[in-house]
Amino acid sequence: MDTHKNAAWVVRKIIDSRKKVIQLQNIQGDLHQKLGQMQSQGKFQIKKAYCLLLPQLPRVSWKTIVLHRQIHPRFEFNLWLAPQKRLFAIDRLQKIGIQVPMECVFCDRGVEIFDHLFFDCSVTRGLCGRLLQWLGLHITLGTWQEEIHWICNMAQRRNGAASISCSVFGMMVYCLWQ
Ligand SMILES: [Zn+2]
Repeated sequence: MDTHKNAAWVVRKIIDSRKKVIQLQNIQGDLHQKLGQMQSQGKFQIKKAYCLLLPQLPRVSWKTIVLHRQIHPRFEFNLWLAPQKRLFAIDRLQKIGIQVPMECVFCDRGVEIFDHLFFDCSVTRGLCGRLLQWLGLHITLGTWQEEIHWICNMAQRRNGAASISCSVFGMMVYCLWQ
């Protein structure tokens, strides 16, 4: 009796899982085609099945900097939030009910929102400019979007100067936010 119950439970689980997979991947109707995509030279490959089951999400332009090998693990999470402007600045803290002074801790003049920190603020702008100078990069500092675009292009290059620039950028974003 127990065996029957267990078997039924297992069968139910398998059927439920099948339904979920069909719903998630919309493979009803072209299952054979999907199974074909999971094979290589006539053999099933778990790697191909895994990749096929991953949700197909749009690629983001800033992945090159976030996934760069030279970014210190401590800075990675911040660097993942920053391009999406999701780092907690004053405005975001207030949205969740945390009351803190509005003034920028660096310059005491502007309101410490994300765009001010990166890089409307004269102090953070000056600091970033000095770091660029130290790196030997003579470029004019732009808006946050322009800087992200620039560093993502830099992250695609495979040379020492680009790697150092990426790791310095990651460290700078982390330290300014902190
Ligand atoms: Zn400021």
